[in-house]
Amino acid sequence: MFYRDTWAEINLDRIKENILLIKKTVNKDFFAVIKANGYGCGDSYLANIAVDAGAAYLAVSSLDEALSLRNKGIEQNILVLQYISPKSLQIAKRNNITATASSLEWVQQAIKEGISGLKVHLKFDSGMNRIGFTNLHDLQLGLKTLLNNSVNVEGIYTHFACADSYDNIMCKSQLDKFKEALSFLNHKFIWIHCSNSDASFHFHENISNAVRCGIAMLGISSYQTNLQPALSLYSKIVNIKKIHKGETVGYGATYIAKADEWIATLPIGYADGWLRAHQGKHCVIDNTECQFIGRICMDQSMIRVPKYYPLGTIVELMGSNMPITRIAKELNTIPYEVMTLLSYRIAKVYIYQNEQISA
Ligand SMILES: *Cc1c(COP(=O)(O)O)cnc(C)c1O
Repeated sequence: MFYRDTWAEINLDRIKENILLIKKTVNKDFFAVIKANGYGCGDSYLANIAVDAGAAYLAVSSLDEALSLRNKGIEQNILVLQYISPKSLQIAKRNNITATASSLEWVQQAIKEGISGLKVHLKFDSGMNRIGFTNLHDLQLGLKTLLNNSVNVEGIYTHFACADSYDNIMCKSQLDKFKEALSFLNHKFIWIHCSNSDASFHFHENISNAVRCGIAMLGISSYQTNLQPALSLYSKIVNIKKIHKGETVGYGATYIAKADEWIATLPIGYADGWLRAHQGKHCVIDNTECQFIGRICMDQSMIRVPKYYPLGTIVELMGSNMPITRIAKELNTIPYEVMTLLSYRIAKVYIYQNEQISA
């Protein structure tokens, strides 16, 4: 239950349809990336609907995120994409969580912890230069060392640095390096994966058997327009008044009314992740765009509206009438950042089988 008049709505039906569309398009297995609390949408809700849609694996960023899913009863395979301290690997093993082997040094430390039976995917760095093996001999030695210590090396993967660029030049060069690594190892892996959402749609390759998608599940892609947006953000008018020409609005009196104007207040501010950068940007009431005016406060913000609206009128801040891609562009950032900024204070409502299931 929540009482604040600002909430996010996550449509699980749409997420499921998006996953089914991706699976059908790529014709490969699906790893659902639900790091950062499922891109801010709720990790276990996304996990459950992804498994329902046939996801073979879940992927998160840290051991803590993986344990959060286990603690919520999620039993599906979970890959931790980032470094797990070797000292914590027993916890991963006990909880059937798959680790990423990202360097020879990590492997050498890891085997000292007695990790036979632990599931591991090798991470090959084909050009991102973030984490992963870069040297083929290290990679081969890492694989051998793990196998000799009865570690269950079930997969190998890489990650593209420029999946969103139209020309695919970088993807091609990275794929060539990944192919070279695979033939050098000459080992049969259960899982080979390299593409995130954008690469899944516009960069075709035939060496992997799974894709790792996050943002496309939520309906956002630079390439596939048939996805449905699954995250919306709403607030309600909690105050409305007419101000006179020359009056100012908000901290620093940065907005000065050019005429008599209706000003409404919404209970959302920068502590909700609704940044001060939204000043001058827009939200939607009844198909009408309304501008955020004056500075965004910590917990509230003000908008100029064309006429009187009663208290409780719903305002759309993100959704089909105010796409996250547009917001990101206007704020000079990317949809990922806009979504993951939404703070713990924003209550979540889920739509499942066309009904609201929780708040
Ligand atoms: C976040 C992430 C993904 C998913 O990226 P999307 O663009 O959201 O599909 C895939 N792989 C790795 C290694 C990641 O860190």
